[in-house]
Amino acid sequence: MPGTRCESTESTDPFDVAILGAGITGAALFRELVSRGHRVLLIDRADFAAGTSQASGMLAWGGLLYLRNLHLRSVIELSRERDRLIEEVGEPASTARFRYLPLRHGGRPRWMVRLALELYWLLGSCRRARCYGERDFAERALLKAECFGDSLVYEEAALDVSDARLALEWILAAERMGGIARNHCEVQPSRDPGNGWALDLRDHLTGEEHTARASFLVNATGVWADRTAQALGLATHHRHVLSKGVYLGLPRHPAHRDFLGFEMGQHGDSQTFTPWGPIALWGPTETGLERIEDGLEPAVDDVRFLLDQANRNLRDPIHGEDVVSLRCGIRPLAVKRSAHAPGHSLDLSRRHALDLDREARALTIFGGKITSSQATAREAANRIRSLQPPPCATRQSHARTAPAPMWSSPYRNPDGTPLRFVAPEHARNHEHCATLWDYLRRRTEIAQWVPNLGLGRHQEHRDTVRALAITFHGEDGADVALAELTARATAQATLLAKA
Ligand SMILES: Cc1cc2nc3c(=O)[nH]c(=O)nc-3n(C[C@H](O)[C@H](O)[C@H](O)COP(=O)(O)OP(=O)(O)OC[C@H]3O[C@@H](n4cnc5c(N)ncnc54)[C@H](O)[C@@H]3O)c2cc1C
Repeated sequence: MPGTRCESTESTDPFDVAILGAGITGAALFRELVSRGHRVLLIDRADFAAGTSQASGMLAWGGLLYLRNLHLRSVIELSRERDRLIEEVGEPASTARFRYLPLRHGGRPRWMVRLALELYWLLGSCRRARCYGERDFAERALLKAECFGDSLVYEEAALDVSDARLALEWILAAERMGGIARNHCEVQPSRDPGNGWALDLRDHLTGEEHTARASFLVNATGVWADRTAQALGLATHHRHVLSKGVYLGLPRHPAHRDFLGFEMGQHGDSQTFTPWGPIALWGPTETGLERIEDGLEPAVDDVRFLLDQANRNLRDPIHGEDVVSLRCGIRPLAVKRSAHAPGHSLDLSRRHALDLDREARALTIFGGKITSSQATAREAANRIRSLQPPPCATRQSHARTAPAPMWSSPYRNPDGTPLRFVAPEHARNHEHCATLWDYLRRRTEIAQWVPNLGLGRHQEHRDTVRALAITFHGEDGADVALAELTARATAQATLLAKA
């Protein structure tokens, strides 16, 4: 395999903290701890952000939905975190104009939605633009005009990069400050009495094995946190309720600029239609799950449901074969371990919970959102500091990687302009990108923006993808990687055809 993944984690000095799980939560905590001077090892058994953090709606939002259950504290906190994210140096998120579309008949009364948006604005300390009504707007061109009256416009925030790239950028920033991150690395932690934790690491891709030690362990494994805690014997007071969410990636209408919000009339839920590059995301679903394994892939019913909702609201009919891509993830929703079985997952707060096991010198993180990931990280770092103070003063960034060179690909926007992605060599050499799938799905948006996971509707991009595969797998491995991708694309196409 080209490139090296041999950055040694072996050291006579233990790490201060080892974090298991490099989704947005682990990435935010990694950055926070390293910036406070801790020596930190971040490990993911798959690629960075290979779990829920590659499947979100990529919105930094103040939690409008939680107003209906009067979760006012969640709204105040999420609004504050949304605004912090917008103001962050490096601008990971920027303001986005939302257009809520009350139904002409059968939905919530428009005055009620307006009142809720005014309250939302107040709870957000009036930091965002105040809501107003607007009758004429470009997006009417893609709606069933007879269903909608005036729209209500308000302000939220959306990530400037994909969710997976945001996690990556925080990881790379922490590495520039001295942190060490490993992806595709299986880890077997065991308690090392008196010294914290011994970590046996095995690189999935190269087979390399290392041993590392850490004084403190963080379980930031998202929906897998319950299993991880159980396997490591960590004491916890919370557990996760699981909720599956699916989005359809549909071709973007040229008039589609604003983020659109639709009422669904079921359980007071709503759906968004979010412009994203050459596509727009319709969704998400919200389905309670018993087992993680049942929610890792979209099902025909998820797609049917979303197509039905889209066709109720959008002017031009949409069929399974029009879908460009699918996103599927599982929300980790934190509840007290003793809590009774919850009703609908939408009624649960999306706040995080931290369970510190002092004896084991470990912390498990439950729940949380991208929007509040920095708050979760700050709180977690404060808890860790009480048991594991940083050894030295805050470290300064001692090296900056070169800016990512962009790659002008043969992929084009509908208007003919080229889509630009980070160059594969740069991703391989500077972004821990180890496989073709890492590149297509998480380092770039190719698998989401180009039909058939980047191969093209009629496999017209097969040669391009093969050239990419060579970058990551060499001539010998390229065809295997391409065959795996084709099998994935075929499975998705079969599912869409059934829907
Ligand atoms: C459909 C949908 C839409 C959403 N939209 C939004 C939104 O618009 N805005 C928002 O703020 N939030 C949104 N969310 C919520 C948000 O995406 C999640 O809360 C967040 O991504 C969870 O991140 P995480 O790091 O906790 O978990 P994950 O991203 O799942 O990360 C866990 C990581 O742990 C790794 N791992 C698991 N087990 C181990 C182990 N034993 N050892 C090492 N590594 C391990 C996994 O490979 C994975 O990379 C949405 C969620 C869904 C499902």
